Amino acid sequence: MLISPADKCPMHSPFRTPVGLSFPVRNIFCVGRNYREHAKELGNEVPSEPVIFTKPTSALCLGNEPIVLPPHSSDVHYELEIVVAIGRRVKNESATEVLSALQAVAVGIDVTARDLQNQLKQKKLPWTLAKGLDTFAALSPFIEVEKPSEKDWGILTFELAIDGQNRQSGKTSEMIFSIPTLVSYLSHRFTLDRGDIIYTGTPSGVGPLKPGNRLKTTWNAFGTSLTWETRVTTDKTQQN
Ligand code: MG
Repeated sequence: MLISPADKCPMHSPFRTPVGLSFPVRNIFCVGRNYREHAKELGNEVPSEPVIFTKPTSALCLGNEPIVLPPHSSDVHYELEIVVAIGRRVKNESATEVLSALQAVAVGIDVTARDLQNQLKQKKLPWTLAKGLDTFAALSPFIEVEKPSEKDWGILTFELAIDGQNRQSGKTSEMIFSIPTLVSYLSHRFTLDRGDIIYTGTPSGVGPLKPGNRLKTTWNAFGTSLTWETRVTTDKTQQN
């Protein structure tokens, strides 16, 4: 159900509402290293508990708005991920209890300046400057869900093609921590509420974005097959 067109929410205005949601985005939580093969491809250990970080809401890039490559990075990567939207307050709930709070699902690109992230990792600093830049939280329209079971959340599939070439494909069955488990984990540390969205981690196959790239995502969720297209550009007005 399309409720609030993204074009009514100009870039950089506060409290933006993605297509398919009836409320604006409040917090953006992200999960790192939630697929074994992706953890390995970047030389990281497979985590024993979820790796969590956040992005500012100013990073939102909705629908067909282009992903903008910043001038101070020369290696910006795509990370295709399933994104869930929380529809009510959630505090200290089990993976079963949180199922009724999962209101909608989308796909998104956790855009990452890999060169900057590697520098930050070396210095043991937070990743915000590599993952929280403008347009670095790209997001497809959401579809609302009808209280699927935990098992249902484990059979989503998604894939990304860039300029017609398949680059990344994932299955939620291959997650280290399932989507309900992640939401439960977060709820024991933060008070989640309506408008919080969660990027749930990327499978292996991440790689660079170049100006002019056209991204096409195909995904299957709860019996529906969907596509989402976006593109990459540079913002020369930011260069100094
Ligand atoms: Mg990611």
